[in-house]
Amino acid sequence: MQEGRDNSIHIEFDNSYEKELDGFYYHQKAEPAPSPSLIKFNHSLAQSLNIDIQSADDEQLAQVFSGNQSIAGSNPIAQVYAGHQFGHYNPQLGDGRAVLLGEVLDEHQQRKDIQLKGSGKTPFSRSGDGKAALGPVLREYLVSEAMHSLNIPTTRALAAVTTGEQIWRNKPAIGAIVTRVAASHIRVGTFQYIAANEELDKLKQLADYTINRHYPEAKTSDNPYLQLLKSICQRQAELVSKWQLVGFIHGVMNTDNTTISGETIDYGPCAFMDHYDPNTLFSSIDAEGRYAYRNQPHIAQWNLARLAETLLPLISDNEEESVELATNTLHEFLALYQGLWLDGMRTKLGITNQEDGDYELIQDLLSILKEQKVDFTNLFRSLGYVVTGDSSNTTSLFSVVEHWDEWKVKWLARLERNEMTSSERVTLMNAHNPAYIPRNHKVEEALSAAEQDGNYQPFERLLSVLMNPFEEQDNCEEYAQPAPSDFGPYRTFCGT
Ligand code: AMP
Ligand code: MG
Repeated sequence: MQEGRDNSIHIEFDNSYEKELDGFYYHQKAEPAPSPSLIKFNHSLAQSLNIDIQSADDEQLAQVFSGNQSIAGSNPIAQVYAGHQFGHYNPQLGDGRAVLLGEVLDEHQQRKDIQLKGSGKTPFSRSGDGKAALGPVLREYLVSEAMHSLNIPTTRALAAVTTGEQIWRNKPAIGAIVTRVAASHIRVGTFQYIAANEELDKLKQLADYTINRHYPEAKTSDNPYLQLLKSICQRQAELVSKWQLVGFIHGVMNTDNTTISGETIDYGPCAFMDHYDPNTLFSSIDAEGRYAYRNQPHIAQWNLARLAETLLPLISDNEEESVELATNTLHEFLALYQGLWLDGMRTKLGITNQEDGDYELIQDLLSILKEQKVDFTNLFRSLGYVVTGDSSNTTSLFSVVEHWDEWKVKWLARLERNEMTSSERVTLMNAHNPAYIPRNHKVEEALSAAEQDGNYQPFERLLSVLMNPFEEQDNCEEYAQPAPSDFGPYRTFCGT
């Protein structure tokens, strides 16, 4: 066996970014981890990526997914990007604590990145240590896998390991690494970095690579680069509408955390809303509420405007024409988003046809939820029971039941104008209204048991519940409850 190389795990790497985009990254190996130990390995994801681990034990998996041992065909890199952080441009960010091991083609021949996050310093680490702490690694594992099970485009978690190293986060913390799988790690910030250098050939190279990898249909368009912008807007509108429909708050929608693929990325200060309130915000550093729930669609549009600026020289040689075409595309974004959101809300209410008053019907419900601080997830889940004639669960969620009763009459009348059997309707609703989301107090409980006692059972249990969010599971009531009042206001943190 070659020194430092593992032969028990086979990954068929096929690295296009490294081969085709010279100058967009540095070659960078992971720092050695003193004593890696496997926390979790995602076998079903590995299988879908054609990763063969047949003869590997936990020790070998830990060695490979800490970066201690390399796999034939991997040629790790740290990618460069820039980005607007909370509205302020930072010309130089990049993978400060991550290395891309390489790319694979999955079972559907879709190209996927496999990246270690928390594996040590890179040329982009700035003042950071390049490491990740156990809590945030488990949070990323849990929430990204939960999002996938909620049918929301997202990066995935392939593995989590502890490194055996103590790191420092205001206090001592356990070092860990999460292996992230993504459709790609190309961000709005990647385009911003390349565009800032004003080298048109490089920008074209990145845009062509992106089209080939994510939007090949744009190639046959009259204006492929305008079509690229349109397609990315479409994917972002789909993504953010899905976030809004389950009450997911990303928390740090900087342009470097906005993917070109339309996947959710970077599970730092994210959290789910309990009771419905459009102003909900958890991030401790977002004093102005820039990334609050209600702002997410507008921020997505703002981020796409930053992307559009980078593409202007490619869209047309005539600057005025370029600006006009890009501006028109951006102006369509909110309407596109609204349409997707409205259709998604209709589905949550068991409605498959369209009527003019639907928007008002939905807004009426949302204002009652806001006024009475009703749990968003549980309310929608309970509506399936109302369709079968049992309103007791729903009624118990309201303090002023009359408002709900009045709304219910309007809603049931609306359902009568959209014929289907009640069992068809309940099936539809239950497939879109999760019974389980990663409840903030349950996530914290799982993280602190692991961090403080080395007890991974709450993490395992929560993960297994979240793998089937649309199915009510026996003895899982506690996972469906909002945080108890003594949990207090929830605060999340960035850059951990
Ligand atoms: P994030 O807030 O995780 O999206 O990260 C923003 C930027 O900070 C990215 O360029 C990261 O690579 C970098 N970064 C975050 N944490 C660390 C760390 N512990 N060490 C080095 N760079 C980091
Ligand atoms: Mg980031």
